[in-house]
Amino acid sequence: MSEEKNQNEIEEVTNEDEHKDVEHYCYLCRRPESVAGKMLELPNNIFICTDCMQRTLNSMGNGQFGFIDARNMDLDSMDITKMMNDMQSMQPKAEVKKKKKDKKEEPEFTLKDIPAPHQIKAMLDEYVIGQDYAKKVMSVAVYNHYKRVVTNTMDEIEIDKSNMLMIGPTGSGKTYLVKTLARLLKVPLAITDATSLTEAGYIGDDVESVLSKLLQAADNDVDRAEHGIVFIDEIDKISGKDDRRGGDVSREGVQRDLLPLIEGTTVNTKHGAVKTDHILFICSGAFHLSKPSDLLPELQGRLPIRVELKALTHDDFVKILTEPEANLIEQYIALLGTENFKLEFEPAAIDKIADISVAINENVENIGARRLHTVLEILLEDISFSATDKSGETEIITAEMVEEKLHKYTEASDLSKFIL
Ligand code: ADP
Repeated sequence: MSEEKNQNEIEEVTNEDEHKDVEHYCYLCRRPESVAGKMLELPNNIFICTDCMQRTLNSMGNGQFGFIDARNMDLDSMDITKMMNDMQSMQPKAEVKKKKKDKKEEPEFTLKDIPAPHQIKAMLDEYVIGQDYAKKVMSVAVYNHYKRVVTNTMDEIEIDKSNMLMIGPTGSGKTYLVKTLARLLKVPLAITDATSLTEAGYIGDDVESVLSKLLQAADNDVDRAEHGIVFIDEIDKISGKDDRRGGDVSREGVQRDLLPLIEGTTVNTKHGAVKTDHILFICSGAFHLSKPSDLLPELQGRLPIRVELKALTHDDFVKILTEPEANLIEQYIALLGTENFKLEFEPAAIDKIADISVAINENVENIGARRLHTVLEILLEDISFSATDKSGETEIITAEMVEEKLHKYTEASDLSKFIL
């Protein structure tokens, strides 16, 4: 999809929103529209985000609707009556919260608005399980960064920007930590994959395209974008001083193109000039096969803060499943609840789900906490398939059920099922 089209879409959404004075919350996952994106409006003031709609379609049809991508649906021209017939057993579980949309909610960068490092860490603790050290280092770095931005000391005193290099295994929460941080601080975030970037002059996204993404995330407000965060994942995949990727793209060339951006420069985008001096750059990678020192020394030097994340443990998995707001277990309970089907989990079953997830990670491919979602999907496939016919019933998931349903996968019998 072209950037221009994306931009038009964003403008349309913004214009529509101006006519409404409430922020809608997804009935299922409780995320606000500003986070979850445009929502389908159902009668009785119920709104559903496209992510939850996709899950509902998947569970209703057990694959029958699997080819439909809810995110690409035209929500405005959707046949709500048909949709309602499909979801006829839906029962409201709680009142949809409404919040006045306050335009002044936009962050104003004054020092008093930036929570102290320990407060940032405490906010992160509510969502991100474990990774205490990483959360602490990031809280301090982010605080220092924005403190220097708002007091203008960054320009006066020559201190390195707090750009970071995050190192940790897949699925340990690197992206999630940054997303959570940006959401809590209400700063725009652009996420890009280093492997999708090409050296200037080659076909593909050049490194500057990430600033267009940031502008979009900032609703085209250049000032907000200039205080935003850019997250570049898989940086380890472009490490080294090599050769050519795919015959024509130099990994070293991409690294070199990133240098001025990370350091601070002014880039002309289609939507205006963007100064990157105050943008916080966070690069991230698993560094299984390479080391941070394999990156160009100039690039390493521009990422002075090192944040290391650990592989998550069984106990972390149990907490991820049950503790954060809108955790995976709650999401499944809410989803089946819309069909008036009551789902419960015995504590031993949760423990077993964590056991099995650890075992599959060890035996098949380690994708960390991402495994939990796949495991739950398999565990609940039959229940989701027949829930529409079992309105009013209750199913209690026991450890034995988890063992029976998932045991075979711990032996890597079907590897393809686990590659996300
Ligand atoms: P990566 O380290 O590969 O960037 P992600 O941050 O994308 O991993 O993690 C994938 C998903 O797993 C997240 O969206 C989140 O739901 C869950 N997750 C991973 N780590 C944590 C964590 N420490 N606490 C809570 N959820 C986590």
